[in-house]
Amino acid sequence: MQLQVDQFYTRLMNYKATNEFALLLDAEDELRKYKHQFYIPLQKNGKEHIYFCGNSLGLQPKKTKEFIDQELNDWENLGVEGHLNAKNPWLPYHELLSNSYANLVGAKITEVVAMNTLTVNLHLMMVSFYRPTSTRYKIVIEEDAFPSDIYAVESQIKHHGIDLEKALIKLKPRKGESSIRTEDILDVLNKEGSTISLVMLGGVNYYTGQVFDFKNITASAHNQGIKVGFDLAHAVGNINLDLHKWNVDFAVWCSYKYLNSGPGSVGGVFVHEKHHNSNMPRFCGWWGHNKSDRFDMPDSFNPIQTAEGWQLSNPPILSLAAIRASLSIFDEVGMEKLVMKSKKLTSYILFLLEKIHTERIEIITPKNSGCQLSIRVKNAKKDLFNRLTAEGVIADWREPDVIRIAPAPLYNSFKNVFDFYEILKKLL
Ligand SMILES: *Cc1c(COP(=O)(O)O)cnc(C)c1O
Repeated sequence: MQLQVDQFYTRLMNYKATNEFALLLDAEDELRKYKHQFYIPLQKNGKEHIYFCGNSLGLQPKKTKEFIDQELNDWENLGVEGHLNAKNPWLPYHELLSNSYANLVGAKITEVVAMNTLTVNLHLMMVSFYRPTSTRYKIVIEEDAFPSDIYAVESQIKHHGIDLEKALIKLKPRKGESSIRTEDILDVLNKEGSTISLVMLGGVNYYTGQVFDFKNITASAHNQGIKVGFDLAHAVGNINLDLHKWNVDFAVWCSYKYLNSGPGSVGGVFVHEKHHNSNMPRFCGWWGHNKSDRFDMPDSFNPIQTAEGWQLSNPPILSLAAIRASLSIFDEVGMEKLVMKSKKLTSYILFLLEKIHTERIEIITPKNSGCQLSIRVKNAKKDLFNRLTAEGVIADWREPDVIRIAPAPLYNSFKNVFDFYEILKKLL
């Protein structure tokens, strides 16, 4: 597989910035048929949008309706009996997602569970994994982390009655650089390790697209007795993950970005199996209770000895149905092929952007990241972005001057990438 990507890079030298060449790359694309399994939003003129916002809200798979209809029909015909007698009984329904989730994040099936939404899960995980003491109480996060993560982390610190100024360590890039060097992160861990309780990073930073070095950061933190959690909102379904092997303590994600499971759909959690039997504190609810006597309604809580033990409530089946529809596509394609196409798409777009000989463009995403490219356009106003939108490009604008695009390998084509380049060139 690696070889094929390398060959592709070699061919880069012979890349052409032409419509014909983009169409040739599409014709060679093994995954091209999957685009037709998604609804691509149309412009007013009836043409498809260039949809580069899969990192914000993934598109709807055509089969989602069928999966949700199945549950609506069973509810219509069975009422409460659907819990046991639906085609896919609701009682254990969330278990149907675990195998696919485990494959996506590189976990054992017992280490993952679909539940709640991302920020809720982040709080639940911190209840268990952020246990500050008088000497070890700090949390490490990226300075430009997604705001919800910062709010969650800060409120956890305050909840424990600890002074924010003392407890929050924000990692920053060096002056003049856009991404944070791994060596600088390890340096912080070495210097302040004995006072740090938790490292909580976005696996892929939402703003720059930087992929963090999960393995080395985790190993180094563990050497210092620090727990490690990752927010995989921009990582799951985008890059290869191997959480179990990397020995990550916990991770959380949402399913509506690269996982195409619909606005606000249920997220997921990873808890490493080494923590399943520990008696660490957690917030409990009946759905996390031992399945064998959950319905005897016993008084004392006895957790399921897997990640499922962190569940609180019975989950929203209609949302899980949408996730199942989407994950069935990921199961069929596999991350290896997806990542390969993603690398080809981004290498082609990087090639094209270099053709726009302007000093104004700077790609702040490091090489070899995921789908996302964050393009800084010097002296850009939001007007540039508005004009891109008017030309049919759906991307994302971040103040002061960054356009984020995320060509998603399941439904974006080389032709999309080429058209984007032509439009941007014209507007600049
Ligand atoms: C998208 C995203 C969220 C969203 O959180 P929800 O609880 O699902 O609304 C949180 N953190 C990061 C890093 C994200 O990218």
